[in-house]
Amino acid sequence: MLRSHKFGAKIRKLVVAALKAKKALYECPACGKTKVTRKSFAVWNCKSCEAQFAGGAYIFKSEAGEISSRLIGDYQKL
Ligand SMILES: [Zn+2]
Repeated sequence: MLRSHKFGAKIRKLVVAALKAKKALYECPACGKTKVTRKSFAVWNCKSCEAQFAGGAYIFKSEAGEISSRLIGDYQKL
């Protein structure tokens, strides 16, 4: 019971933010329409052009994902 998301203000705020980000629509990098929804854990699907993307678990682009994609781009230039 102690490791539940029901008790504690901070953890409840984090859960509400994650569920909001999970349900939201995001802009598709392939076609530009705001139609990207979460298909399953870290899999995101565009309802318009059926493109699939790997993203964050509960948000389309996580902070760690953006950092790693930036680093990959930097190392490709070398
Ligand atoms: Zn699309």
